[in-house]
Amino acid sequence: MSKPTVAIVGRPNVGKSTIFNRIVGERISIVEDVAGVTRDRIYSSADWLTHDFNLIDTGGIDIGDEPFLEQIRLQAEIAIDEADVIIFLTNGREGVTDADEQVAKILYKTKKPVVLAVNKVDNPDMRDMIYDFYSLGFGDPYPISGSHGIGLGDLLDAVAASFPEAGDDAEEEDVIRFSLIGRPNVGKSSLVNALLGEERVIVSNVAGTTTDAIDTSYEFEGQKYKIIDTAGMRKKGKVYENMEKYSVLRALKAIDRSDVVLIVLNGEEGIREQDKRIAGYAEEAGKGVMFVVNKWDAVEKDDKTMNKFNEDIRKNFLFLDYAPIAYVSAKTKQRVTTLFDTIKMISENHALRIQSSVLNEVIEDAVARNPAPSDKGRRLRIYYATQVAVKPPVFIVFVNEPELMHFSYERFLQNRLRESFGFEGTPIRLITRARS
Ligand code: GDP
Ligand code: GDP
Repeated sequence: MSKPTVAIVGRPNVGKSTIFNRIVGERISIVEDVAGVTRDRIYSSADWLTHDFNLIDTGGIDIGDEPFLEQIRLQAEIAIDEADVIIFLTNGREGVTDADEQVAKILYKTKKPVVLAVNKVDNPDMRDMIYDFYSLGFGDPYPISGSHGIGLGDLLDAVAASFPEAGDDAEEEDVIRFSLIGRPNVGKSSLVNALLGEERVIVSNVAGTTTDAIDTSYEFEGQKYKIIDTAGMRKKGKVYENMEKYSVLRALKAIDRSDVVLIVLNGEEGIREQDKRIAGYAEEAGKGVMFVVNKWDAVEKDDKTMNKFNEDIRKNFLFLDYAPIAYVSAKTKQRVTTLFDTIKMISENHALRIQSSVLNEVIEDAVARNPAPSDKGRRLRIYYATQVAVKPPVFIVFVNEPELMHFSYERFLQNRLRESFGFEGTPIRLITRARS
């Protein structure tokens, strides 16, 4: 079943981002570090005991120039739309304020579980501060301290107890799940329509998540597909629909639930900064990836146009050099159905398992061609490699001294694996360990 989503809401300065960071902990983001992409984190996976969930800090979604109360109202509405469980955060040092009551009023409208937390209760003597908060009408308030890390366990127990029951959404083995992500107006909805054609399609609400995510099932040439969150592509006329942070949130949720992600670009307009950020999310998530250049019908072309666009993509998305590129038109439907074959190929590569004997032959051969690096008289020795995971494929290489494994040599080994096994469209990871 899909992971539940938890959102933190509350007026400014009650400690939302502090709590978010506490719960999420240090999850190092490869893309942010390596590619220099900076972003305020408002969405992350997290876990508590045996529960995996996604966490949203709605305070990070700034709603343009709207007045203060309107901002809080919209953030609370986003929480209601996007979350399965809501943490309503308040500040015990200030007591119940008008703004808290405003938030409460909006949260009354939802049937989703709301867990009330009173933050900044930094020591046990301060616990009396919570009684005031019963007046908000959300039952027992949970006293916590974000800065001291107190009370979070009890709070998360209450949150986890409210998670929706695991539905019948058991991930079917033989279904390939994919999503289309991209800036507004690149043609995502049009592409979905073109992909589905006139065929009858099965649209289903996603069990386990009570959000308005809608998946569309489809069969093409004997293969079952599921297009993730087609509803998110439709315009619903919400005020916050076009806010970048909000679309990022939708995209991250869709990526999470996909095997393969289609990064849709607008052939007419070329590549923009926002495309790079969006692509970064897909790469970071370790999913299968391809580029789809849409609106190719509207591009004036000569025999160099496509090569030029290919080069632009490779130059702008260095870390996605393994992602295939397709040129399509949702309008004329040109080459649209060929996407299914590519998606299938990527999904197979993403789940590919290499036999250890074959894997080690390739590694030995690679080392024979390009000897492992040495440093101060010590040479890296590779003893053995084994694949430990799929989706994406992860390999552990056992060596004498992991410090001797240079980035460039690791890259060389990865390239050899790609040359030998394909892996088009999927990231692969290599981990170096000392043989114990
Ligand atoms: P947000 O606007 O709701 O995201 O609030 P922040 O997380 O930015 O926190 C606002 C301020 O409250 C910061 O100065 C935090 O250091 C402080 N703060 C957060 N949690 C606690 C806490 O548990 N105790 C105390 N004393 N201060 C806190
Ligand atoms: P989304 O916001 O990414 O879902 O984009 P839409 O599917 O709503 O498309 C945005 C606009 O681009 C609409 O006016 C579409 O008619 C137009 N559009 C979409 N695909 C194509 C295409 O392949 N060629 C052309 N010329 N226009 C397209």
